[in-house]
Amino acid sequence: METCQVCGQEGEDRRTLKLRYFYELEEISEKFQQVPIDEDGATDVFYMLRTCKDCRGDFLELLRRWINGEFVQPESDDPKRNIPVRKDGRTVMVTREEWEAMRK
Ligand SMILES: [Zn+2]
Repeated sequence: METCQVCGQEGEDRRTLKLRYFYELEEISEKFQQVPIDEDGATDVFYMLRTCKDCRGDFLELLRRWINGEFVQPESDDPKRNIPVRKDGRTVMVTREEWEAMRK
């Protein structure tokens, strides 16, 4: 029996997600922990998660939506969107109201 690191369900049939994206994924969740992996005589560091098939399916669905551009935002020329904010490794422009809501 093994615990899914996403949903916590106990079970036998687990899959491993191995990820490296040049970003500190601990910012997203403390469930992401770096693990050294020996491959071809060299040690490399990846984030690894052991998940159940349901959580793998959720991740694949999210990946499908992402690769198909579902999250792409059209560029805005709204002059009220004039405050640059660093979010998830990129700069986004927000309004004063959005910025104040983020600070809470
Ligand atoms: Zn799960």
